[in-house]
Amino acid sequence: MGTASQQQLASDNYSGVCPEALDYLQKVNLGHEPSYGEDRWTKEACDLFRELFDTDCAVFFIFNGTASNSLAIAALCHSYHSVICNRIAHIETDECGAPEFFSHGAKLLMAEGANGKIDTRSITEIVMRRRDIHYPKPRVLSISQATEVGTVYTAAELRAIKETAESHRLKLQMDGARFSNAVAHLNVPPREITVDVGLDVLCFGGSKNGLALGEAVIFFDLEAAAEFDYRCKQAGQLAAKMRFIAAQWLGVLKSGAWLRYAQHANACAAKLAEELGRIEEVEVMFPPEANAVFVQLPAALMAAMRERGWIFYTFIGAGGARLMCSWDTTEKTINAFLHDMKTALVALR
Ligand SMILES: *Cc1c(COP(=O)(O)O)cnc(C)c1O
Repeated sequence: MGTASQQQLASDNYSGVCPEALDYLQKVNLGHEPSYGEDRWTKEACDLFRELFDTDCAVFFIFNGTASNSLAIAALCHSYHSVICNRIAHIETDECGAPEFFSHGAKLLMAEGANGKIDTRSITEIVMRRRDIHYPKPRVLSISQATEVGTVYTAAELRAIKETAESHRLKLQMDGARFSNAVAHLNVPPREITVDVGLDVLCFGGSKNGLALGEAVIFFDLEAAAEFDYRCKQAGQLAAKMRFIAAQWLGVLKSGAWLRYAQHANACAAKLAEELGRIEEVEVMFPPEANAVFVQLPAALMAAMRERGWIFYTFIGAGGARLMCSWDTTEKTINAFLHDMKTALVALR
C-alpha cells in the first residue's frame, strides 16, 4: 500500500475512486460476461439512467468527457454546420479541437454571457448575423451545466435557452461534466433540467464525481442516437469490458452516492468561498453554486501559496485562481488551505 498524498484543490479530477464504485468493480469482476456492452451490468446501468430521468433515453458509455461532447455534437450536425457555445466553454478551450475533428469541420461560434452562461440574445445575434450560404449554418447549441466557472443554470434559464434554440432550429447539447453538482445545487429531479426543458443529449460526467473513468452520453432525442454505437466504435470509444464502466455507475446510482458526493463537494466550495470572501486581499469572482471557487489573488500571495505546496490553475474560464472541491475533499484540507493563506498574508503584510 502506498501512502496517501496531500489533498489538493487543483482539480476535481485529482481525487480517487469512491468506495461505492470500487465495491461494484469487485462485484462485476466475478465470472465471465459478454463483452462490448452486451453484459447484464451494462443493461442494468442503462435502465437505471432511464429510471433516474424517468424517460426512455438511449445511453452510451464513453471513456472521457472530451469524446462524449465531441461525439454527441457530431451526432447532431453535419460538417458544414456550426455549434454555438460560450467563449469559455470546455469544448472551445480544452478539447484540442476534438468537436471540430469528430464532426469533420463543424465550426464553433462563440457566444457571450455573464458568469459562464450563454445569454439568449447572443444566440440570436450569432444566428441572425448571417443567413447566406457562405456562413457555417448554426445547428447545435452547447451549454455547460454546471458551467466552467462553477455557476448553474436554473430550470427557468434553461427553458428560455431552449425556446431561443427552438426558434432557430438548434439542437441542444449539455456538457454535464459536473451535472451532478448542478442537480445538487438546484435540488430538483434530474428530469426537470433535461427532459422537461427539451434537451436533446446530455453528457453526464462521472470521473469528476467519484469514478475512475467513464461518462454516460444520454440521448433524449432517440432519433439522434441512431448509429451512435458505430460512431463510438470508430472513435475508439467502445470499451470491450464495458461492464467496468457500467459497474461504477451502478455503484453510485444505486446508493445515491452520485448526488450525496456532489452535495458534499458543493458544500465544501461554499464554505471555502465564504471564508475566502472574508479575506481583504481575496476577491471571489463568481457565485460558488457548484464545486468551484474562482478567486483573484495578489501575485505575491499566489506565489506564496504555491511555495507552500498548493497547486491551482489560473488558465481556466476567465482567469483567476480556480479551486475545486471533489467528492472526497475534507474539512481538514479546506482548513489547511485557509490557514496557509492567512499565514502567508501575515508574512507578506
Ligand atoms: C473536465 C471537463 C470535461 C471533460 O474532460 P475530459 O478530460 O475529456 O474528461 C468536459 N467539460 C467540462 C466543463 C469539464 O470540466
